[in-house]
Amino acid sequence: MKLLTMKFGGTSVGSPKAISQVADIVEDDLEAGNRVIVVVSAMSGVTDSLIDAARKAAAGNKWGYLSTSETLRERHADVLKQLVPEGDDHDRTLAQVNALVDDFVNLCNAINILGELTPRILDSIVAFGERLSSRVIAAVMRARGIQARQYDAGQFVITDDRYQAANLQWEETVSNVQSRLLPALEEGIVPVLTGFIGQTRDGVITTLGRGGSDYSGAIFAAASDSDELIIWTDVDGVMTTDPRIDKRARVLPYVSYHEVGELAFYGAKVLHPKTVQPILDKRIPLRVRNTFNPTFEGTLIGPDSAPSATVIKAVTAVRNVGLLTVSGRGMIGVPGIAGRAFLTTAKAGANILMISQASSEQSFCFVVMDDKSRAVKQALEQEFEQEIEQRNIDQIDLLDEVIIITVVGSGMRGTPGIAGKVFTVMGQNNINVIAIAQGASECSISFVVEEAHLERAVIALHELALQTVEMA
Ligand code: ADP
Ligand code: ASP
Ligand code: MG
Repeated sequence: MKLLTMKFGGTSVGSPKAISQVADIVEDDLEAGNRVIVVVSAMSGVTDSLIDAARKAAAGNKWGYLSTSETLRERHADVLKQLVPEGDDHDRTLAQVNALVDDFVNLCNAINILGELTPRILDSIVAFGERLSSRVIAAVMRARGIQARQYDAGQFVITDDRYQAANLQWEETVSNVQSRLLPALEEGIVPVLTGFIGQTRDGVITTLGRGGSDYSGAIFAAASDSDELIIWTDVDGVMTTDPRIDKRARVLPYVSYHEVGELAFYGAKVLHPKTVQPILDKRIPLRVRNTFNPTFEGTLIGPDSAPSATVIKAVTAVRNVGLLTVSGRGMIGVPGIAGRAFLTTAKAGANILMISQASSEQSFCFVVMDDKSRAVKQALEQEFEQEIEQRNIDQIDLLDEVIIITVVGSGMRGTPGIAGKVFTVMGQNNINVIAIAQGASECSISFVVEEAHLERAVIALHELALQTVEMA
């Protein structure tokens, strides 16, 4: 008997038909004698619509959020109507759905009156998506005779109060899972938990960042000592590139934790970048599988680096970033400039995605997400006011409309000439490379190019990746 944690994404729970498929998958594993913890996302599109509704509320558009509330009500009621027979459980769950939607409207009314949307309130708003989906999914499972019980994950997952991207408090979370969730499993209950959501010690709802249900799945898998974590999604596994950019993308049978960490960090939406963190130490195997093609094995992700001859495994791109450059001849030999720049960036609330410095010490550059790049530039100009005045630093430049392209593969380590091949391909395609960085682990190479080149760059490099896949 195995303990499996399964996370189902938005599309996988996006319609009555999909939810029925989810119930089939869970049922099959229970029949095989396994125990299952289920973690679910909001129904597809719901999180976006909640954010949009909250913004409309703050802007005074009452009709906007009322219409969202009606759509929410209908979509969740429809799942119950189609998959849960008339009776007590149907009525009770429908009443819960209606009560939650009413709470959502009340909260939007408050936002509307105040004319202001704080990060804290926004987290409470987006959490409605998972709170609704988990309730109807648990009811669907019960209608099949599965002993499913819905839980809001906040009672287990404790975080700090960094709203929208809360940090996990691991010890408390593990202790909550062990003391309260495991006993329920022992009784034969199948917990159906909200992904994406946590809670501060004071009981305020937080969220783990967009796409964070994958991370929730990993948190529950690790805290419960599951034998396996399965991320059920809408593609066959982790692929050589985003199939929406290049249709030739192929499923990778095996990827290491390290590789998938790089892939996710550098834009592969299929997994949240933090997903591997909780399961890394315990070496819990992770599988990415397709809810709509459940007989296919998907991608296995584990601790070993690939033993095969694959060199470049995958190509990813991060959009909406800005490249900041700090330059000036007076910087040579002056210690601490980079340190101060990175500290200032952190204080401005921005994460650094990539750093590059030329050997001359006359300049260095780094990449942050677009929504923070202007604030970072201003903060840097303030921090280095004196240096700029004294001409030790010439200026702080911000280049918008750029992207990061990353090629990933642990086989690149010790395989000479890969970087050469990558940049030759860029040259052949007339794509100017603005900045380059390679991690010390040599598991990935990242570089910055103009946004307009995204598709051409990804497709050309993917060609190279496909060739190396064929070598395996
Ligand atoms: P879910 O709702 O199940 O979490 P997401 O939409 O968050 O699903 O992630 C799955 C999507 O990620 C796929 O539909 C695919 O378009 C996209 N994607 C981007 N890069 C990759 C990749 N390298 N491999 C697989 N899918 C990718
Ligand atoms: N529903 C959340 C989102 O859309 C979390 C997730 O689906 O992973 O970002
Ligand atoms: Mg996702």
